[in-house]
Amino acid sequence: MEELRRRILADGRALDDRVLLVDSFLNHQVDPELMRAVGEEFARRFDGEGITRVVTIESSGISPALMTALALKVPMVILKKSASRVLQDGILQTDVYSFTKNARYKLTLKCEFVHPDDRILIVDDFLANGEAAFGALRLLEPAGAKVVGVGAVIAKMFQPGASRLREAGYRVEVLAPIRRMSAGKIEFE
Ligand code: 5GP
Repeated sequence: MEELRRRILADGRALDDRVLLVDSFLNHQVDPELMRAVGEEFARRFDGEGITRVVTIESSGISPALMTALALKVPMVILKKSASRVLQDGILQTDVYSFTKNARYKLTLKCEFVHPDDRILIVDDFLANGEAAFGALRLLEPAGAKVVGVGAVIAKMFQPGASRLREAGYRVEVLAPIRRMSAGKIEFE
């Protein structure tokens, strides 16, 4: 997706060879026009897959996932990261290790928002080691849903997430696949 690559080169900042900052347009301040284009591109790529729900992980996945759900005309479900006093009954939880925070969190799904006949697209802002995506799969599949694929706005292809998911049989679509990066330098596949 050329528009996204150009934006990453113009406004993204590689802090080192592992962490990319895109907080001016994706995960702190958000560019709605760019997110609309991202959503339309995921919808185009997964057209014909019969997606019935888009699922994401709070919080940075929400804007691309919402625009994807809007383009596909299906609901979006947010997997929660923090325990809530109102979210108690009928929930599934799994522990996930966070790459950027170097800490574990409990990913939570309220089961009523996923049905056994659902065909689900997982959308997230970044794919790194795949911990968040595999955490989502551990919640969605026991709920009976079929996960059709994973869409990542940005994937650092030098980390194992995308290949781990593909080896496990999932379709993975990446809008901006990064081959390598170093402080101040970003190279796409
Ligand atoms: P994974 O679970 O695949 O190891 O990491 C993906 C999650 O970690 C994403 O939801 C994203 O929020 C965060 N993440 C991973 N790498 C980066 C990065 O380079 N920059 C930012 N901003 N977030 C990242």
